[in-house]
Amino acid sequence: PAPGTPDIEIARSVQPQPILPLAQQRLGLSADSLVPFGHYKAKLDLTHMGNLSAQPYGKLVLVTAITPTPAGEGKTTTSVGLNDGLNQLGVRSSVCLREPSLGPCFGMKGGAAGGGRAQVIPMEDINLHFNGDFHAITAAHNLLASLIDNHLHWGNEADIDPRRVTWRRVLDLNDRSLRNTLTGLGGAAHGIPRETGFDITVASELMAILCLAENQSDLHRRLGDIIIGQRRDHSPVRVRDLGAEGAMTVLLKDALNPNLVQSLEHNPVFIHGGPFGNIAHGCNSVTATRAALCLNDVVVTEAGFGADLGAEKFIDIKCRQSGLRPDAAVLVCTVRALKLQGGARKKDLANPDVAALRAGAVNLERHIDNLRQFGLNPVVCVNRFPTDSDEELSTLTALCRDLGTDAVLASHWADGGPGATELAQAVMDRLEQGTPDIQLLYENSQPLAEKIHTIATRLYRAGSVSFTREAQKQIEEYEALGFGHLPVCIAKTQYSFSADPTLLGAPEGHDLPVKRLTLSAGAGFVVAVCGDIMTMPGLPKRPAALDMTLDEHGLIVGLS
Ligand code: ADP
Ligand code: MG
Repeated sequence: PAPGTPDIEIARSVQPQPILPLAQQRLGLSADSLVPFGHYKAKLDLTHMGNLSAQPYGKLVLVTAITPTPAGEGKTTTSVGLNDGLNQLGVRSSVCLREPSLGPCFGMKGGAAGGGRAQVIPMEDINLHFNGDFHAITAAHNLLASLIDNHLHWGNEADIDPRRVTWRRVLDLNDRSLRNTLTGLGGAAHGIPRETGFDITVASELMAILCLAENQSDLHRRLGDIIIGQRRDHSPVRVRDLGAEGAMTVLLKDALNPNLVQSLEHNPVFIHGGPFGNIAHGCNSVTATRAALCLNDVVVTEAGFGADLGAEKFIDIKCRQSGLRPDAAVLVCTVRALKLQGGARKKDLANPDVAALRAGAVNLERHIDNLRQFGLNPVVCVNRFPTDSDEELSTLTALCRDLGTDAVLASHWADGGPGATELAQAVMDRLEQGTPDIQLLYENSQPLAEKIHTIATRLYRAGSVSFTREAQKQIEEYEALGFGHLPVCIAKTQYSFSADPTLLGAPEGHDLPVKRLTLSAGAGFVVAVCGDIMTMPGLPKRPAALDMTLDEHGLIVGLS
């Protein structure tokens, strides 16, 4: 594409192929296992797929990244490009991604279906309402909220303490005014007044549950396990106590089925689920990953943020719960992000700065080292940006050689699959070297504080972990309730190995401050909140929404 061509124009320049014949020919799916949503999107009906965990699997490749800049380093773009590159080599491969949220589309970050010539289409549909999964999650989440308030209104038989209801409401938009609200105002006919608020849909525990559930009955069980608050005696109230899990499962019936679309090069792409990468585990659904593994020789998948958050949660939460294991990892790295880690200012990242690049290489080294602790020797992919100078690129290649790893330059953003065949070959070579012995970072049986300490010291290289009194009390409470065996999900900034976004490079000896914990009993993890984590984002001063409209042909303008 000409420099500066918007992603949406590149996406629109390619006519997608009808999805049903594509899925039948490329994945060998039968017509009755596919539910079309229009011409170019389909859902895979899992009830026609047999037992996914009993079938032979292809190889699973995890795409992760170094510490990102706010714009993102191209994990999604590289996952799509790598899959197109693998298909160029004749490998039967698909990619599994998360569904975008409407919040960032209308806020700042823009769409999330890849970029340049490595995109998934139809990108407008994927970025906007797609096949309705997020709306279904929003409805199921808010149905539960209304059933809780209704229970309080009609006599509160379960003895829920209205001040200790932790289940909030959700909306798939950025809206800071809804973070803290009062509901039930207006008198006796209008419910019981209480303080609550809204989160963005991707922060809903239902999103994490949908992505970790193995099938419909597991979904139903997990929904029943959710804890919505406490009684006056502080005992937990479960969804099962209110009898809401059946109706919620009904609303999520279709959302549990993975979505199938295609890349610009007409290779199959699974896009399903999109949990936050901070208060949740940040990867696509187990059902989509399993289905893709049954239908392909290689499956590429992405985990959110840098490897300290994304890869750790992929392995310690998604893999631990499901039994899935990655066979290889790709570590995406950019010249821009390394310069930021080396002290360059955000506004100067487009300018050549070999000194900053060299200084920032400690961040790459730390991520490689961390992945090796899991048993993964990553293929380092340099995702090439138009602003990278030749000197910067050759310096980075040499730096990687010094670190004992070969970096592969990839230009899929500019060139599509042909720009990623070298990367694809490097991944195939890594897969041929044998199956890695994947190590989880901690045992289920370790106490919660010890699990947090293990992640903090081994991956973040913190010198200490401090717990507030509140966090200490919560740990005792969760362990007494029998939740001490759960994995922990650390919610911290994605901009540093530490909880302080200004500590760049490869900090050591810092303190990880654990402010409080939350229990996601249905999803099956305990969240440790370290720092200020936003579960309902706000819009920037000039939101992307203000540049959007429909043109005279009914086409969307301004979606990036
Ligand atoms: P991540 O998944 O890591 O958050 P994305 O793949 O969504 O990152 O990419 C973030 C943004 O950067 C997107 O707008 C994408 O188009 C852009 N981008 C990614 N790779 C490149 C590249 N090589 N050159 C220019 N822009 C890129
Ligand atoms: Mg992404």
